[in-house]
Amino acid sequence: MIPAAPLPQPLSPSRPRWQQAWREAVRDPRELLAMLGLEALADRVSDQAALQFPLRVPRGFVARMQHGDPRDPLLRQVLPLDDELRAAPGFGLDAVGDSLARTGPGVIQKYRGRALLVATGSCAVNCRYCFRRHFPYAEETAARDGWHEAVELIRADAGIDEVILSGGDPLSLATPKLAELTAALAGIPHIRRLRIHSRLPVVLPERIDDALLGWLSALPWPVAIVVHANHANEFDAHVDAALARLRDAGAALLNQAVLLRGVNDSVDALAALSERGYAAGVLPYYLHQLDRVQGVAHYEVADDEARALHAALAARLSGYLVPKLVREVPGDPGKRPL
Ligand SMILES: *Cc1c(COP(=O)(O)O)cnc(C)c1O
Ligand code: SF4
Repeated sequence: MIPAAPLPQPLSPSRPRWQQAWREAVRDPRELLAMLGLEALADRVSDQAALQFPLRVPRGFVARMQHGDPRDPLLRQVLPLDDELRAAPGFGLDAVGDSLARTGPGVIQKYRGRALLVATGSCAVNCRYCFRRHFPYAEETAARDGWHEAVELIRADAGIDEVILSGGDPLSLATPKLAELTAALAGIPHIRRLRIHSRLPVVLPERIDDALLGWLSALPWPVAIVVHANHANEFDAHVDAALARLRDAGAALLNQAVLLRGVNDSVDALAALSERGYAAGVLPYYLHQLDRVQGVAHYEVADDEARALHAALAARLSGYLVPKLVREVPGDPGKRPL
């Protein structure tokens, strides 16, 4: 581990400190490699891949990478490589059928009872394996018109009992913007649960500040927060503290991970992820097979191997530490178990 850089002071007292940490994210692949003592890897970095989907990684996340390790599982999730430019059959642009399931601006409804809001297109980290690398999400978010159309769609459909904030990363929105949404939703009697899908508690734990916790603990519904960590090394004391604060505010914490070649494609890595997450108060939820979008084929683990890994994991761990191994298939009524 390399020591975390000291957190810079906020520019103005009214601007939350996490936004400063957000802006300080590393964006230059060569700077990232220099921080890790990996200058020799520079010729494997793809400028073209970085042009398509820029490198972006918060400094606190870099601090959890192993200095001098070219195969670090966190580095592998964020470094643009030439591998991304190779075309692979079956890897397209909209692998999960989002454009068909859209019911309004930033509203995606695929499954019974649940409306997913694309709250924003922004993320604090750019994960190379993400479908977001191709999607014009930022252009059409549910927050765009002050949430108006999204809220009216939900109000009009009494079958919706759960609202899922997703993205992008919904916690990249400022807290008052989130509060604007939940104030509008609070008047809709058929909503029973709120869910938040966010990688920020893991990649930018500074985001879990007093204002966010105040908002969260005052919400009128049970709240589940589904975080996203793929490897045990993504947790550190800052992340543990952020997660503990979220639990104290009443949120149930779950983790979804993606099965990724070279990151977590071993029983040891997957077991350590479940155990480390649980130590931080997070139960495993899903282990996703990769969405087959262009540029990510080098991360794929074949279905047979995925099933074998999952069976070995189930033979090793307590039942509640075994995530469900699933794939998203367009048209299905839910995530499909493998
Ligand atoms: C994955 C997903 C959900 C949530 O599914 P769960 O199985 O309840 O976690 C909801 N809506 C959409 C559009 C999704 O892709
Ligand atoms: S944080 Fe989530 S949505 Fe954002 S790039 Fe990573 S995987 Fe994709």
